[in-house]
Amino acid sequence: MKTIESTLELDQRTRAVLEQVRNLGASHLRPLGLQADRAGAPLPPDHPFFEMVWRSGLAGGALAAPEEEEGGDGAPNYRHVRGCVLAEEASYWDRGVAVSLPGPGLGGPPVQLMGTPAQREQFLSIFRDRTGPPLWAAFAMTEPGAGSDVARIETRCTKDGDHWVLNGTKMFSSNSKRARWVAVFATADRAQGRAGHRAFVVESGTPGFEVIRVEKKMGVRAYETCTFVLQDCRVPAGNLLGGEEYYGERRGFKGAMASFNATRPVIAANAVGIARAAADIARDFIHDEYPRTGTRRALALERMVDMRRAIERSRLLCLRAAWRLDRGEPNALESSLAKMHAPPVALRAVSMAFDILGEAGIRRDRLLEKLYRDVKVLDIVEGTQQVQRLIVARRLVGLPSQG
Ligand SMILES: Cc1cc2nc3c(=O)[nH]c(=O)nc-3n(C[C@H](O)[C@H](O)[C@H](O)COP(=O)(O)OP(=O)(O)OC[C@H]3O[C@@H](n4cnc5c(N)ncnc54)[C@H](O)[C@@H]3O)c2cc1C
Repeated sequence: MKTIESTLELDQRTRAVLEQVRNLGASHLRPLGLQADRAGAPLPPDHPFFEMVWRSGLAGGALAAPEEEEGGDGAPNYRHVRGCVLAEEASYWDRGVAVSLPGPGLGGPPVQLMGTPAQREQFLSIFRDRTGPPLWAAFAMTEPGAGSDVARIETRCTKDGDHWVLNGTKMFSSNSKRARWVAVFATADRAQGRAGHRAFVVESGTPGFEVIRVEKKMGVRAYETCTFVLQDCRVPAGNLLGGEEYYGERRGFKGAMASFNATRPVIAANAVGIARAAADIARDFIHDEYPRTGTRRALALERMVDMRRAIERSRLLCLRAAWRLDRGEPNALESSLAKMHAPPVALRAVSMAFDILGEAGIRRDRLLEKLYRDVKVLDIVEGTQQVQRLIVARRLVGLPSQG
């Protein structure tokens, strides 16, 4: 399927980085994704690929729209749009390896959105210095009893002198085993509901922070998905994002929601990438293996047309959500529309490609069976399709999406 340049006029800098990602995709992301998938294990943090990509200045930073200086006159620099463009391309080649790349990853947005200038400098500037070893960060909201309904988190935080003490369990946290720090959401008082939410940066090596499990996943095996415990984990008061004065009017919870508004379009863009990959496999198969005429070919092409239309729609929804964010406009609705739409379209695209390939699709030497296992997670992470529908529905009748 047509690449993003068919949809959007890109500035010179984005075109150059996109070209870099494309080359890296063909040379490394796809082969390493297949390698990790076949091995059933994430790429180790000391894999030479991470060092190479870190030195190149690309890494997860560029792919996940890192903190960047604004345009000189306060004009938007469209870094979230750029993030979507690059996330689509990286995911086209391999979504698992794309998530495994060093950089702040999903940990970046909460620090960026909730942190004080000093905290942003302390925790994000380390990703700009590429002379040392590759670095990762991570995000931890999900708990055994709190997935879609993040208001139910139970990880407790208690103030003790100039520290906070954290206790609880976090699960499905991507890259947290190798992370230099994890942005952790906790509650100071469950009775206060959302008003009790606080966000912390927990640094690796802090006593009481321990990763206890790395999941064996059906797909996207190239990155780690971890469960960790916080047991009397003492975090300096300076690691409370935004400082204590920040937390009036449920701002801890709202900060998490704002963070999702930044990351959902990126996940949706990942889905566009996988959908494109599936559509390309189907196109090539029709070209190489189908008879030149006949009903079977006509039906397959009709499916391809429908799918192309749906994928283009997904892409435009992602770009619109990111564009509004870059312009400082509310984007909760657009972000949920993109997240609600793109992953199911990608699921259908992979399924359609299976229909077109027939039994050839399930062979392990084809990429398609891997895409089938990789794609589902996009419908789950950062809020499921059903949850996005609730958010959109509440907006349509004028209710705030945050309840
Ligand atoms: C590979 C992977 C990586 C992840 N990475 C991270 C990460 O880095 N950090 C992090 O914090 N989390 C992460 N997650 C967790 C992810 O965000 C949650 O899995 C997701 O929010 C859904 O939560 P849940 O799995 O507990 O499902 P549940 O909330 O238990 O939902 C189960 C089902 O019920 C439906 N449902 C729930 N509530 C409603 C409702 N009100 N109305 C209708 N239907 C509803 C859901 O749509 C879903 O189909 C990751 C998950 C995976 C699989």
